[in-house]
Amino acid sequence: RTFEDLKSVYGLSTVLVDNLLHSGYTSPTPIQSQAIPLMLQGRQLLACAPTGSGKTAAFLVPVFHHLGRPKHSGIRAVIVSPTRELARQTLRECQRLSEGTALRCHLVKKALTVTRSSKQYAVPKCDLLITTPNRLVYLLKQDPPAISLTSVEWLVVDESDKLFESGAKGFRDQLATIYNACNSTTLKRAMFSATSTPDVARWARKNLTDLALVTV
Ligand code: AMP
Repeated sequence: RTFEDLKSVYGLSTVLVDNLLHSGYTSPTPIQSQAIPLMLQGRQLLACAPTGSGKTAAFLVPVFHHLGRPKHSGIRAVIVSPTRELARQTLRECQRLSEGTALRCHLVKKALTVTRSSKQYAVPKCDLLITTPNRLVYLLKQDPPAISLTSVEWLVVDESDKLFESGAKGFRDQLATIYNACNSTTLKRAMFSATSTPDVARWARKNLTDLALVTV
């Protein structure tokens, strides 16, 4: 399959195909070939793909496709990246792949300490937010919350392997806080993990119903 095939079969928008080609991505990587069609069809998924396999574009392309045009109705997609460095890389990929769409992507850079005298960290209006779990939970736990996730349609957790590491309770709790802040009736989730272990599959079966499993 080529990116052009994704356009003719699944209606992937021309601007996204052009951005992929301009990025020098001549053909989809295996994870892209599998994950993009599923997410374009609105399926939630757990995808196991190693680092460097092109997983960032595998989730950004269908998410951008679903976002379409900017709607000015609040944040509609959130990418949770476990580290700041990964979040920065994801922002760069966002900028490449969303060029010409007018979609606004924002990286939460700092969870400023909020004191009574200082102003709250204001998240600018955007369609897609990239954040570490720490920073997002910090914003959600302000009183009143410094961010609303009720209009989020797609939540992507990158490198979700962290969920299954020993001592990951903190990360699991953070993800629960994030899910609970979203509107569960309209939310779709995609989890990307570098490894495929029995723990991953067990967790997915327990927590995510009607989920497509993709392993490359
Ligand atoms: P990632 O796994 O998302 O970190 O991507 C690893 C590297 O592969 C990045 O430098 C991407 O720019 C590049 N890449 C992603 N998709 C493709 C593709 N379809 N063809 C060539 N390179 C790609």
